[in-house]
Amino acid sequence: MPLPAQTPVGGALDAPDKREYSCRSLADTNSQLIFILAHSLLLLQTVAALISYPPAGPLPGWLEREAFLMGTTLRIVAELPDSASGAPTLEPAFDAVRRLEASLSTWREDSDLALLNRSPVGHPRAIPPAVYHLLGEVRRWTERTGGAFDPAVGALVDAWDLRGTGRHPSPEALERARRASGLTRFAWDDPTATVARREAEAWLDSGGFGKGAALRLVRDALRAAGIPRAFADFGGQWLAIGGRSDENPWPVAVAHPARRDKAVAWVGLRDASIATSGQSERSVRVGDTRLGHILDPRTGRPVSAWGSVTVLAQDPLAADVLATALFVLGPAEGLRWAEANDVAALFLVARDGRLERRASRLMRGHLLDDPTSGKE
Ligand code: ADP
Ligand code: MG
Repeated sequence: MPLPAQTPVGGALDAPDKREYSCRSLADTNSQLIFILAHSLLLLQTVAALISYPPAGPLPGWLEREAFLMGTTLRIVAELPDSASGAPTLEPAFDAVRRLEASLSTWREDSDLALLNRSPVGHPRAIPPAVYHLLGEVRRWTERTGGAFDPAVGALVDAWDLRGTGRHPSPEALERARRASGLTRFAWDDPTATVARREAEAWLDSGGFGKGAALRLVRDALRAAGIPRAFADFGGQWLAIGGRSDENPWPVAVAHPARRDKAVAWVGLRDASIATSGQSERSVRVGDTRLGHILDPRTGRPVSAWGSVTVLAQDPLAADVLATALFVLGPAEGLRWAEANDVAALFLVARDGRLERRASRLMRGHLLDDPTSGKE
């Protein structure tokens, strides 16, 4: 894989369309990287994939905007189309995410999902067709991943108090929560687009797929606006429209699972999305143990901190879902699954103070050399 002609950090400013960019000298490289990494620390909720191009701040010919959505920050940087008669805005993309959040959030009481999650047991509840369709896709991912990805982990989230300060449930409480978890605790009726809960404690958690679903809407909105090149950063998941140039993809840095300020791999992104899952600081400490926010639906327990997995996929929903699923499966089984299912995945495994990189065959085709090396 050839190096980008220009690195994304500091020097990546000589774009082929010869637009004028606000140049930063190479001396700025490190401060720029550190700024972006530090900035990202505030934004990212999982072990992060970090991009550092274009530099923060307005560039001629580019639009940039960010908003707080789905509990994190969505930042979009987009190149204006050449033929812009009446410049497009990024608003439709943000509006689409806002609407999706209003539908999927389980942190508010009035969303479609929250209403379903509180609906009386045994009573079918009508779901808006688009949401029902999305949940159908997610259900198929649950089947495909053998239940490693399962949004119906709500009862387990409660049992471990992952949205509070964390707790170790008693064996009885864990067993009860397991009996109330899993998509089979819901009755799905496709012809009427209705869902009925079968257990009082069962609820669906959109945390593992909401950002991916949202980035898909962002992609569609940006394409509809005729935007030729863009990237979006949504709390650690990235979306690229086009590449950095016709020849080069956007270089995205993948952070060390335990040290987010350290890039340990670079992945080229073009018309695709990249998501990372790991046990991040979004874990809760209970006594001596840390409970991660990703649960293994097969055991009912939080997945222990083995490292992180980064997935690249054309479909942002698939990237989001598969990063979570492969983190649950772990580096050995996860890599086998990724190979068997043609998934581009990079596993970063922390072992004995060292970090092992294990890339699936498809991911190897996207790995870049460190574009910042030799530029200091
Ligand atoms: P992040 O949202 O931090 O980027 P993920 O995409 O991996 O990370 O999603 C983690 C979230 O998904 C958890 O906070 C929880 O809401 C939900 N979740 C936890 N375990 C699972 C699982 N096995 N399958 C589906 N969703 C899960
Ligand atoms: Mg996910």
